[in-house]
Amino acid sequence: MDGQSFEPEGRYARHLILPGIGPAGQARLGAASVLVIGAGGLGSPVLLYLAAAGVGRLGLADDDVVSLSNLQRQVLHGTARLGQGKTVSARARLADLNPEVVLETHAIRVEAETAATLVAGYDLVIDCTDNLAARHLLNRACVAAGVPLLSGAIAQWEGQIGLYAPGLGGPCYACTFPKPDHPPPAQSKGVVGALPGVVGARMALEAIKQLTGAGQGLLGRLWMIDTLWNEERLMVTHRRADCPVCRGKGEKC
Ligand SMILES: [Zn+2]
Repeated sequence: MDGQSFEPEGRYARHLILPGIGPAGQARLGAASVLVIGAGGLGSPVLLYLAAAGVGRLGLADDDVVSLSNLQRQVLHGTARLGQGKTVSARARLADLNPEVVLETHAIRVEAETAATLVAGYDLVIDCTDNLAARHLLNRACVAAGVPLLSGAIAQWEGQIGLYAPGLGGPCYACTFPKPDHPPPAQSKGVVGALPGVVGARMALEAIKQLTGAGQGLLGRLWMIDTLWNEERLMVTHRRADCPVCRGKGEKC
């Protein structure tokens, strides 16, 4: 296997010797396809770590351009890329980090009409958007397509991550957040620069676990962190029998 040999300093050497991943897990990563929506604060570490980990096919959708106020936290991009499309900037950085990964970039905003086509054919969709409307829209598309959705959100000093997959017996996003009123978009109240690093790296880690089958993931659990006061919580979440999005989909409630 190219790049996955047991050479002690090969690209994936530290994965190949790691209990929980090993050669079989690394092969699963290489065969996996992941779609990341948003190449901003959360998308930066998610994309960097998943490309570095050798996820075989990495999709990315973002219609934004790199602006100066992004660079306080969106470490995928740099000053030389100001004004460029985020997909262009991301492609350059990720191709340099790991040329073995097949990158599929879509310089589009995810709309109800495009979401279904976009998510189809991926093993996992990762929501790195900054607004609830997009999150609910993605959830509906993922439930319809039967693709698990790993969703993260940040605001000020706080973050949260959940894995939503009715097909695997867990809740969908709308089961957990039936009312679109939490949390607010990051730009409305500010966000500490390292926070998307903490939450996004954790999302990449959960994605690697989901794709390799290592350990216990966040299906039916919501991880929440308040970094200002160093408080973390793991909440149990359930499917709702009356959920308008996933009712009748996947396993029984
Ligand atoms: Zn639901």
